Amino acid sequence: MNAVSRIKGDREPVICGVCRRRAIGLGWAGRQGHPVMWLCDSPVCGTLARSVYEMPKVALDRFEQAARDEAGDMAGAYLESIGKTDLARLTEEEWKTFLHQVLVGFEASLRRRFLENAAPF
Ligand SMILES: [Zn+2]
Repeated sequence: MNAVSRIKGDREPVICGVCRRRAIGLGWAGRQGHPVMWLCDSPVCGTLARSVYEMPKVALDRFEQAARDEAGDMAGAYLESIGKTDLARLTEEEWKTFLHQVLVGFEASLRRRFLENAAPF
């Protein structure tokens, strides 16, 4: 069994090793005593844990770069949709929506790209 749980007193903030959202108390380790990759509450991330954990760093970097670029495109499309390109002129709500496009777009793109390339599990 390679799934592990965080101990109750361990409350340091950690991020999901798959999508980079806030992790919860579940993680994955290749073997007992190996570093743990913590996971968020997404079932998709749980499904992808092993393949991402074992992925070479170079491949992981490529996935992250592609997800970053896609999230940037989504955020750019949002700015085009509201007709603004100067970030200093965004309202508070527009700024939050822009950031949401970047952050959630990155997470969603990363998960989707992993799923497309990691199957079969
Ligand atoms: Zn996740």
